[in-house]
Amino acid sequence: MSEFVKKQLVNIWQTTLKLIEDSGQFDPAVFNIWIKDSQLYDLDEDFATILVPYKINKQIMMDSIGFIQQILSGVIEHDVACQIFLQEEMNRLSSSSVAKARNEVMFENKIKEDYTFENFIVGKNNREAQAAALSCCYYPGKFNNPLFIYGNSGLGKTHLLHAIGNYILTNKPDAKVLYIYSEDFVTLLIESMKNKTVEEVKERIAEVDYLLIDDIQRLTQSASQEVFFNLYNKLITNHKQIVITSDIHPNDLKGIENRLISRFSSGLSVAIGAPEFETAKAILSKKMEGREDTIMIDDDVLDYLATKFSSDVRKLEGTLNELFFKAILYNPDRIDLAFAKEIFKEDPVMLRERSELTVKQIKQAVCEFYGLTRHQIESKSRTKNISTARHIAMYLCRKHLELPYVKIGLEFGGRDHSTVMSSYEKMVNLLKENDVMMQAVIRIEHQLGLS
Ligand code: ADP
Ligand code: MG
Repeated sequence: MSEFVKKQLVNIWQTTLKLIEDSGQFDPAVFNIWIKDSQLYDLDEDFATILVPYKINKQIMMDSIGFIQQILSGVIEHDVACQIFLQEEMNRLSSSSVAKARNEVMFENKIKEDYTFENFIVGKNNREAQAAALSCCYYPGKFNNPLFIYGNSGLGKTHLLHAIGNYILTNKPDAKVLYIYSEDFVTLLIESMKNKTVEEVKERIAEVDYLLIDDIQRLTQSASQEVFFNLYNKLITNHKQIVITSDIHPNDLKGIENRLISRFSSGLSVAIGAPEFETAKAILSKKMEGREDTIMIDDDVLDYLATKFSSDVRKLEGTLNELFFKAILYNPDRIDLAFAKEIFKEDPVMLRERSELTVKQIKQAVCEFYGLTRHQIESKSRTKNISTARHIAMYLCRKHLELPYVKIGLEFGGRDHSTVMSSYEKMVNLLKENDVMMQAVIRIEHQLGLS
């Protein structure tokens, strides 16, 4: 990059920063500590690459990325999407040959052979999703485009995507099918932007006949959304089939632009729910088929597991693995109900029924984790770790107890319901970005027997 261009970038960014500072959007302290030290590293027709020193700078700026984008676009007088990098992320990839090699990895066949339609058990909970997935195989790009499958974690969404992929690989070997996990898509784009291979990546994706994109709720970077939006339009116009999964309904997706959400809703959205007892039991029997364990398992053990764990098929499957594993350790004659009950007695999920969970327990678990008192998290204190703990506790109350915001506000020192609501929404977004916070939440949830 020439000195002249570098200087121009510095000027553009100085002007942008001044406007951001004057806008009053950020508290002056926040601006000085976390925003001022950013740099405009690169700028082209579509993208601005911003460099920041620490993760926290990135998190705070990502929180207001739309605003920053708007100001910068105003300064340069055309619309750009901003991408924020840490210096270390920037250092990770230096040569374009490495980038090309990485692109290759991304385009490798990622379809898992053992997730097929044949071993997908159909029940009331997933019948519509399975039928819609099959229709995409028979009539690609025709009826349900895009097909949007949504439902809680562990209910078979990824399995169905791979089943489509396997069907195509077997029955239409000439068709190109690409399975991408949304987070990998973001990584692919980030790296290709840095190495100027975005166009190549876009062209390669635009060539596919089937795009299977998993966990779209993780597509939260605005620059990737821009690229995805363009690709999406191109593929749909060319009658290529797109299948998307998500853990929530398209209308509830947070951090994803409205124009994308409205596109997602233009095809068919189908829900996938938790299996009923019979389906859960059939899934267990199916999962047993391929096992080589010689130990016998009583039928009423399967009944017991299907009743207790059917809200999450991944967990249901995990319990089976755990039973066989423990059977190797303790060597019983066969796995009977008493043995199974004994094993799962230690599991916190079994010890605490979800319905027993209370606000008090949530507060207590959060306080224990952060070493605070209940009085502190209910107080108005704005000390960083107290307010973080409070936000997490309020978030957990909403997520697991589904309490009205008004009620949560009352539980936490008489806060206004709109404050609680915006705090909850911020936390949902923050958790997508902030690993440390996410780990804290996971550990607290585990403590409460929720994971
Ligand atoms: P999701 O993507 O919805 O989080 P997965 O597709 O990863 O869930 O499913 C979790 C596990 O449960 C996988 O091992 C999958 O094979 C299994 N599973 C879920 N639903 C079914 C089903 N209907 N039949 C067979 N296996 C299933
Ligand atoms: Mg999945």
